[in-house]
Amino acid sequence: MYKKFLVPLCIAFAFSGCGTSSAPAEAKTAQLFAMDTIMDMSVYTNDDKLLNEASELVTQLERSLSTTDSDSEISAVNTTGSATLSDSTAQLMERALEFCEKTDGALDLSIYPVVRAWGFTTDSYQIPEHETLNALLEHVDYTNISYDPETKTLSVPEGMEIDLGSVAKGYTGDRLIALFRENGVSSALLNLGGNVQTLGTKPDGSAWRVGIQDPLSSSYLGVLSTADEAVITSGGYERYFEGEDGTIYWHIIDPETGYPAKNGLISATAVGPEGVYCDALSTSLFIMGPEKAVEFWKTYQDFEMILVTEQKEVLISQGLADSFQLTENSPYHLTVVTKS
Ligand code: ADP
Ligand code: MG
Repeated sequence: MYKKFLVPLCIAFAFSGCGTSSAPAEAKTAQLFAMDTIMDMSVYTNDDKLLNEASELVTQLERSLSTTDSDSEISAVNTTGSATLSDSTAQLMERALEFCEKTDGALDLSIYPVVRAWGFTTDSYQIPEHETLNALLEHVDYTNISYDPETKTLSVPEGMEIDLGSVAKGYTGDRLIALFRENGVSSALLNLGGNVQTLGTKPDGSAWRVGIQDPLSSSYLGVLSTADEAVITSGGYERYFEGEDGTIYWHIIDPETGYPAKNGLISATAVGPEGVYCDALSTSLFIMGPEKAVEFWKTYQDFEMILVTEQKEVLISQGLADSFQLTENSPYHLTVVTKS
């Protein structure tokens, strides 16, 4: 009944280069499909087993975190109301709950039934009735999630279901980077469905160059030079459908309304050393819209960002002024946001 679109989730790409220093000159590469996306790893190592270990880690995390795998820890919470979490899931849950609070509920793990009502969990898209959304929203409130860090027990009230989809890939990237670092790697590039995470610089010591997707075309709007950082984008163009009413509906939901967040941004990119935080931020800055997102950045100043507005303005935080470049002849207008 509705037109369906699923754009490849590659929102960013990176230009890698050949190395000349002590790191191996050739990268070992692996591609896998996990967490509903294509994941690419490019790791400068001589260790043949390391990429297999990395793929196993991703599979193991997916098994614990998936909402659709009935054996996952998250499914246990969603079907029985409570579960004792493994160390990894507990670690991610603690951070995720912290981000829900820090973003004042722009990020809300309990939004899951609303996301499902729109069909984003199954790709059978539909526009839910207003009353359906209102009824579901009554159960959406992350402050009602109880978590005991001593016993790692998580409990949710009846009617509530949770989803870590907004932060799982960022956390997975952090775990992969840690695994590579522990194994002596000093140069690696990950692209987990558009979440780019880098370890060190390119082997020749120069920065990685990460393309930021233009939300309005298949090209990119600019390039960011980065090292040892996550560059994570959320956008309405990633997963969406066109309703019979001609409106485009996407998979990032405003917990205030139950509808896809439409607060002035068409994409939000967060940049910083920690993938899980940047993943939480990209989703929540997108929901906040430009004014609140800028206020949030000024308050915390513990990340950098690239916001793309509906008016074709690109707002970048001060810390990226020297490392981000708009594409030549760009239709976008660049503004640097400063602290004061
Ligand atoms: P992607 O996973 O496509 O890279 P995001 O990191 O922005 O994009 O996460 C979007 C996913 O997060 C959605 O598919 C949905 O499962 C979930 N989600 C949507 N809205 C919210 C929200 N307000 N709070 C928490 N999770 C959300
Ligand atoms: Mg995210």
